[in-house]
Amino acid sequence: MVSKVTKTDAEWKTELSPEAYQVTRKAGTERAFTSPLNNNKTEGIYRCVCCGSELFSSATKFDSGTGWPSFYAPSHPENILNKKDFSYFMIRTETTCAVCDAHLGHVFNDGPQPTGKRYCMNGVALSFEPVDIDGDGKVSGGSAQAVS
Ligand SMILES: [Zn+2]
Repeated sequence: MVSKVTKTDAEWKTELSPEAYQVTRKAGTERAFTSPLNNNKTEGIYRCVCCGSELFSSATKFDSGTGWPSFYAPSHPENILNKKDFSYFMIRTETTCAVCDAHLGHVFNDGPQPTGKRYCMNGVALSFEPVDIDGDGKVSGGSAQAVS
């Protein structure tokens, strides 16, 4: 079980950037190709921008060409909730943070193996932390920059 982070709407609004607030608390979608994390190839972990829970690793990130950061598997599945979303006359699966209920994006079934899943995430819903994922003693993959 994850321990929940619960805050009021007003608290989130104060703590988050306007873009992050709109996406994570109002289930918005950032414009494609606007997130610096979309092309981020630096090794590291991706956390929920709201509560800091670890969600994804650069090890499962892939270039989906959609304009949003995409992953084929969460690094901590217990921190992710998937639920059916019927908005905009489509049946999609919404992905939220299990800890603070932040809207993160959607998951589709057209991703690469081994999972076949494509977690299509909003970059503003994630905060990136450069970390040596493959254990070779260095953070590789280009210029390491913390994006928050
Ligand atoms: Zn969260």
